[in-house]
Amino acid sequence: MWVYRLKGTPLELDPILLELFDRGARGVEEREGEVLAYFPAPLELPFGGVWEELPDEDWLSAWRRDLKPVWAGPFVVLAPWHPWEGEGIPLVIEPGMAFGTGHHETTRLALSALARHLRPGERVLDLGTGSGILAIAAAKLGGKALGVDIDETVLPQAEENARRNGAGVCFLPGSLEEALPHGPFDLLVANLFAELHRELASRYRQALAPGGRLLLTGILLEKASLVKEAMAREGFSLLEEEREGEWVLLAYGI
Ligand code: SAM
Repeated sequence: MWVYRLKGTPLELDPILLELFDRGARGVEEREGEVLAYFPAPLELPFGGVWEELPDEDWLSAWRRDLKPVWAGPFVVLAPWHPWEGEGIPLVIEPGMAFGTGHHETTRLALSALARHLRPGERVLDLGTGSGILAIAAAKLGGKALGVDIDETVLPQAEENARRNGAGVCFLPGSLEEALPHGPFDLLVANLFAELHRELASRYRQALAPGGRLLLTGILLEKASLVKEAMAREGFSLLEEEREGEWVLLAYGI
């Protein structure tokens, strides 16, 4: 990894940052009095900066060192190397290739909503489980959780994370269809995206037991109406709408 070090803070920084990303920067860091742009290899740039080579290990260990525990509702999401003896329900998640480290707004929205909606003993489906974080959280709240993901390469990480947390969770490759034979579920949590929720709206009901609830996130604020219209058409009633930044979680009952 190479770093391009640009001294001083240019007044017109935004176009420079865009240009750095356009030219292949993997990350850009603004520090007091300088801008650092990280590239896989040096290249000619017109901004008068200097290049330095970084050993790859430094990049990785700096990232691991800077990763902080994250709070969401009653949970604190920790990496395996974070010591923790404080309050909160710890969720230990290896930040690997799978989505779901607690550093995204939608994961935090879903974690907080699980804590509000899940009653002990309920059957929970985590649709699009990624790192397994939501299924593991559901198990820690006393739920019986199944996590499914269409990308089966994430499942070994989800299983490893469940083991780390001593959480009894079942994981399966697939989507809603593959989960249906294991239902019905009292609670379905899905951190996907608005267009997919719209597509699945007519089939969510099949997965739910009487009195079942849905926690849908991965929804950008500007696309929330698209999900709301589809869910209203299917006769679901909106129980709750939560927002963090530009992201929304919608909770529904039947
Ligand atoms: N549940 C984790 C969280 O909340 O942080 C991960 C959510 S991540 C945004 C979405 C996950 O859903 C990805 O792992 C992706 O592979 C999976 N996914 C996408 N489309 C899917 C589908 N149709 N059925 C099941 N999983 C899907």
